[in-house]
Amino acid sequence: MTHIFHRTPRVPLQTAVRGEGCYLFDADGRRYFDGSGGAAVSCLGHGHPEVVAAVAAQVQRLAYAHTSFFTSEPAEQLADLLAGRSPAGLAHAYFVSSGSEAVETALKMARQYHVERGEAGRRHVVSRRQSYHGNTLGALAIGGNAGRRALYEPLLAEAHHVSPCFARHGRQAGESDAQYAERLADELEQKILALGPRTVSAFVAETVVGATAGAVAPVPGYFPRIRAVCERHGVLLILDEVMSGMGRTGTYHAFEQEGVVPDLLCLAKGLGGGYQPIGAVLAAARVVDAIVGGSGAFQHGHTYVGHPVACAAALAVQTVVERDGLVARVAELGRGLDARLRSRFGDHPHVGDIRGRGLFQAIELVRERDTGEPFDPALQVHARVKRAAQERGLLCYPAGGTIDGRRGDHVLLAPPYIASVGQLDEAVERLGEALDAVVRGLPALE
Ligand code: PMP
Repeated sequence: MTHIFHRTPRVPLQTAVRGEGCYLFDADGRRYFDGSGGAAVSCLGHGHPEVVAAVAAQVQRLAYAHTSFFTSEPAEQLADLLAGRSPAGLAHAYFVSSGSEAVETALKMARQYHVERGEAGRRHVVSRRQSYHGNTLGALAIGGNAGRRALYEPLLAEAHHVSPCFARHGRQAGESDAQYAERLADELEQKILALGPRTVSAFVAETVVGATAGAVAPVPGYFPRIRAVCERHGVLLILDEVMSGMGRTGTYHAFEQEGVVPDLLCLAKGLGGGYQPIGAVLAAARVVDAIVGGSGAFQHGHTYVGHPVACAAALAVQTVVERDGLVARVAELGRGLDARLRSRFGDHPHVGDIRGRGLFQAIELVRERDTGEPFDPALQVHARVKRAAQERGLLCYPAGGTIDGRRGDHVLLAPPYIASVGQLDEAVERLGEALDAVVRGLPALE
């Protein structure tokens, strides 16, 4: 009987004991290809010697110094590095320990920005259905994942949701990309107007949706229209790239492919690559200036803000990513992975969609390919595929999302940026074998 209470697994979990490159090893010596980088975390794989050395050196030199007394070299250098790689307007970094904390931090920064400017009435946050922004109460409140919210509904702050941009399920017959984007932007504008002028603080969206819907990129022109609506109403744009950022989609920031720059950007996962828990908010000068020029201090903080070892780990990860040209590699590997997925699953009877960007790709699992009819949610097909893949030495990230009230299953691949073409080909093969085995074992689909 384990004394760990992280969750109650239906199947007892293997014990992970070692990581090397793109592989994890369990206590019985079995090897797994980390095809999802955990949850899109391990961008450099495991045991990278330079990162390991940087972490060890920092622990020895200075493990911790509270940010009310000191700043630290790794935190300063990491902030410089991020500022140097981001659009000029997004030059200030606030370091936390997770994606959820990054989201909470961004929500509070937005609120304080408005209050400093004399707009204390701005309290509402608008986000999207079919989204995930973290599991702490504030982040959960703005999230649009009905399943994750349900139990905690009575504890959650008021939230306002609009439709996600998910062309496969949300676009109306005959609608062009531009018309669809226009309709969604209009929906946001109507929501802001309904809540009342000067009462909305921020609009929050994942640039490319991860956990809930599986690598869903917006249609072209969506974010510029959303940006324009936000500007018209003085609403800050917060992009959540906790999962899709830091090179994962083939550009350093996912928003670079959208033609917009957010006011606040949430980062985590790939920032530290799993070597330490770290998240960040990158903030626009206008937000920071309003706070610094107003009351002078951001009313927020956690004990581990700007943790030196976490910052040293992220600095080492990001230095390697840059030196080895890994973001360009992600874009190239991503094109190959996409082609491989299409050749393996393009006419698979139970794959309804293949989508994603860079090394952030998903397949949607359906009961019937032609109609797109989903599997019965009770079958938990995504979880079965995850287990079958793990038995075959492949880790992939499953989810059963609700897409505007309609259930769907998908499996996400988000392998390390250092994966080889051969490893990715093999991962697709294993995924195919796992899916076929699961389908064979399902109750007869009448
Ligand atoms: N935002 C997004 C888009 C995420 O995918 C996640 C985690 N899956 C979070 C926020 C929360 O991050 P964390 O689990 O590190 O708190």
